[in-house]
Amino acid sequence: MSDPTRPKGPKIIAVANQKGGVGKTTTAINLAAALAEEGCRVLLVDLDPQGNASTGLGVEVEDRNNTTYDLLTGEVELEDVIQKTESENMMIVPATVDLSSADIELMSNEKRSFLLHDALRQTAMDHYGFDYILIDCPPSLNLLTVNAMIAAHSVLIPLQSEFFALEGLSQLMLTVREVRQTANSSLRIEGIVLTMFDARNNLSQQVEQDARDNLGELVFDTKIPRNVRVSEAPSYAQAVLDYDSTSKGAVAYRALAKELLVKNKKLAA
Ligand code: ADP
Ligand code: MG
Repeated sequence: MSDPTRPKGPKIIAVANQKGGVGKTTTAINLAAALAEEGCRVLLVDLDPQGNASTGLGVEVEDRNNTTYDLLTGEVELEDVIQKTESENMMIVPATVDLSSADIELMSNEKRSFLLHDALRQTAMDHYGFDYILIDCPPSLNLLTVNAMIAAHSVLIPLQSEFFALEGLSQLMLTVREVRQTANSSLRIEGIVLTMFDARNNLSQQVEQDARDNLGELVFDTKIPRNVRVSEAPSYAQAVLDYDSTSKGAVAYRALAKELLVKNKKLAA
C-alpha cells in the first residue's frame, strides 16, 4: 500500500506518553499489526528498555543479541538488528534492558539526540521498503523519547480513559513544542487515541468529552475499548488481531489503522 504521493521513505510515528500503563506498547503492537494486515510494510522499533513490545510479539530474550541499542550506536549492520515476526509484513527491532543505560552511555556523544533519526534514514533502510515505522517509547521524556521525536514525522499519543488522563498531556505537548523549535520543525501530532475505554463507565465518557472539547480534531474518532482479549494476547506472543481476530479490541485497532491511513492520504493529497 505504498502511497505514491508521499515523499520517499516510510512515515515514522512515535507512540509516546510519559505515563506508564496507558497503552503505548499495546497500541504500537496492534496498530502495527493492523497496518500490516492492510498491506503496509511495517517496522516496529522497541525503544523501551522493558522490551514489552518485543516480548509481546514473541521475540525471546535469547534472540535479542542485536537490539535497538545497536541500532542507535550503528555498530551492527541493519540486517542484523531488524528481525522478522510471524506476520510477513511486519518486522521488529527488539529491545533489552541494556537500553536503560543509553542515557548515560551516550552522554558524551554529540549527536546523541539524532541517533535514531540517522539510523532510520541510512541508505540500507531503503531495501526494506517500509511504509510505516512505529516507535514504542519508554514511559518518560528522556533521551530515548527525544530521539524518537526527532526521528519521527509525528507523535501518536495513547490516552487512558481514566482520572487525571489529561493532566500529563501538557508536559508531553511542551516537549513536542521544544523538539519542534530545536530539532524537528515539521513534527506533527498524529493523533490522540483513547485507550481502555469503558462505555459503561461515566469517567471514561467524561474523559472522552474533555479530550474532544479541548483537543478537537487531534482526537481519533476510533476509541480502543477495554477488552480482556487485548491484555491476554501478549502472553501468547501475538497481536490481538491474530489472537482473537473478531474481538472488540481487534476490531478497534483495525478501525484505528483505517482512520490513520485515510488521514494520511488526505494529508498527502
Ligand atoms: P504502556 O506501554 O503505556 O506502559 P501497555 O500497552 O503496556 O502500556 O498497557 C498497560 C496494561 O494495560 C497492560 O497490561 C495491557 O495488557 C493492558 N491494556 C492495554 N490496553 C488494553 C485494552 N484495550 N484492554 C485491556 N487491557 C489493556
Ligand atoms: Mg510500554
